[in-house]
Amino acid sequence: MASFDAIIIGAGPGGYVCAIRAAQLGLNVAVVEGRDTLGGTCLNIGCIPSKALLHATHSLHEVHENFEKMGLMGGAPTVDWVKMQAYKTDVVNGNTKGIEFLFKKNKITWLKGWATIPAPGKVQIGDEVHEAKNIVIATGSEPSSLPGVTVDETIVVTSTGALTLPSIPKTMVVIGAGVIGLEMGSVYARLGTEVTVVEYLDAITPGMDAEVAKSFQRILTKQGLKFVLGAAVQGVETKDGAAKVSYKLRKNDTEASLEAEVVLVATGRKPFVKGLGLEALGVEMLPRGQVKTDAHFATNISGLYAIGDAIVGPMLAHKAEDEGMALAEIMAGKAGHVNYSVIPGVVYTSPEVASVGATEEQLKEQGRAYKVGKFPFMGNARAKAVFQAEGFVKMLADANTDRILGCHIIGPGAGDLIHEVCVAMEFGASAQDLALTCHAHPTYSEAVREAALACGDGAIHA
Ligand code: FAD
Repeated sequence: MASFDAIIIGAGPGGYVCAIRAAQLGLNVAVVEGRDTLGGTCLNIGCIPSKALLHATHSLHEVHENFEKMGLMGGAPTVDWVKMQAYKTDVVNGNTKGIEFLFKKNKITWLKGWATIPAPGKVQIGDEVHEAKNIVIATGSEPSSLPGVTVDETIVVTSTGALTLPSIPKTMVVIGAGVIGLEMGSVYARLGTEVTVVEYLDAITPGMDAEVAKSFQRILTKQGLKFVLGAAVQGVETKDGAAKVSYKLRKNDTEASLEAEVVLVATGRKPFVKGLGLEALGVEMLPRGQVKTDAHFATNISGLYAIGDAIVGPMLAHKAEDEGMALAEIMAGKAGHVNYSVIPGVVYTSPEVASVGATEEQLKEQGRAYKVGKFPFMGNARAKAVFQAEGFVKMLADANTDRILGCHIIGPGAGDLIHEVCVAMEFGASAQDLALTCHAHPTYSEAVREAALACGDGAIHA
């Protein structure tokens, strides 16, 4: 038996960041991870492998679509799927090994195996029991199931199976038009798969600013993705190596079906806390399966905390990381804090879509007086030069104070551009503050500034 200041269960972005910061603050830390590698869902089967495939297939698209236009002639590349998978695996390994290095550097003990919490202050892995002043549940999430749909990870797959398909399917049905479904759908569409997305709601990417979502759907449709919206999936049958997805259109109860080689079920994720023994311990849970915590990540059991996908809030790696950092500070006797009103969300399709703060719909619902500043990438010289002039920046600011309330971007580099707005919002900036900040020319970020200018006397290049 060993004794630690903190034992963190789960080495995803929440857990590993919490461990590193806690060690930097002088705590004696151990992390339990059941998987063979560190990094959690994000590094192993989530953010990182999906971005590798998005990058590879976006590059392929660039060659086919734009190289000739720039005078770059020659044979178009073909896809070696095995090599593309190997590239993805290399990217994942590089990152998971990086966390191993950081654990060694910060003298964090990696306890290998699946943990349970037999009693407050104790963590058990197999026959070993360790003690800790603080225990952190950072066990993440798993794909949600859908009634009538049995996942076999071969024909009917979750995102995990979709990342490692043995070959590129000719046809794919994606159930769920959320971020994961659209990113993976884009990957396969660029590889030549005929992709149809079936969504229960009447719009894609629920929660996204409606104007941006509409434009996003139009752009994806132009790229070849098909959409069936307002459709309730009834079930998926598999036969002879293919699948049939039956659905009912919600507006008139019409029944229809689609056949596909592969069905990707991307209807969301749910917290994963199986096997921890939380029920026996008397840990309070929320109705949707999350561990209940207070504003300082504490559960109802003294010395037991939870962060990341296992608790409420957006299921995003950077949200988990920020909670990990804040909790480490709290465990070290400092004041850790996460500003939940400034957490960006990004869809890594091409173009990217990024947002932070309130949507126009939310502001209307709140009855808040607001103004909108919009600027199209068509007016951005850099975007035009690289054939990425689709999309726009939409800035929302308070009508009276000019304070930035939200920003929504669809266009090149949106996932990076959003952060200047995050920083501005963190400092309580007005749209004019951003508009008066000199932005280098020619950059995509000029479009953000122009949208801020459009909240005032008007954009220059529109
Ligand atoms: P996780 O990353 O899920 O890590 C939890 C870890 O705990 C796991 O490794 C698990 O093995 C371990 N564990 C669980 N129970 C035990 C136990 N009892 N004992 C020991 N170990 C245990 N988010 C983004 O922000 N950007 C993206 O681009 C993005 N892309 C994604 C793409 C896909 C395909 C998927 C599936 C997710 C994506 N996400 C993305 C979401 C992101 O991966 C999660 O929000 C993030 O990983 C949550 O971090 P976490 O630390 O809470 O948990």
